[in-house]
Amino acid sequence: MIEYMAFSGTDDALNCPIFICDYCRKQITGPGNIVWGEAGGHPEGEPRRRTPLFATHKDCDHKFTAMFRQIYPPEGGWRDLWDDIDTFLRQLAHNATHALDEKAGEAHPHIMDMPLVRNWGQQPDEGGSGAR
Ligand SMILES: [Zn+2]
Repeated sequence: MIEYMAFSGTDDALNCPIFICDYCRKQITGPGNIVWGEAGGHPEGEPRRRTPLFATHKDCDHKFTAMFRQIYPPEGGWRDLWDDIDTFLRQLAHNATHALDEKAGEAHPHIMDMPLVRNWGQQPDEGGSGAR
């Protein structure tokens, strides 16, 4: 996730926004992925649901995904998706100054499906809280 890290230093560096790997809980400074899940969204089916965005080192991606699928299982209709952090940041920076309605096309609404607040570095509780 993107988190603020308290960091001793000059006053303007006390809270630093950084990417933290949701598998190993260490800072991502090189290659990394943004990972999220999606379910539903088919024209005649359930409304589209999305998970919050998570972040992983490239080397941690498969281990995180195995954990992620326990919370958002494929048999529950969840598909896991990912993007390079570099691509994500370029698109985010662009969309921070350009409204989506300026683009050709139509927004497809979704429901945010939040898991219980937890340290994602821990295994899910028995019974898979948050799984559907
Ligand atoms: Zn990691």
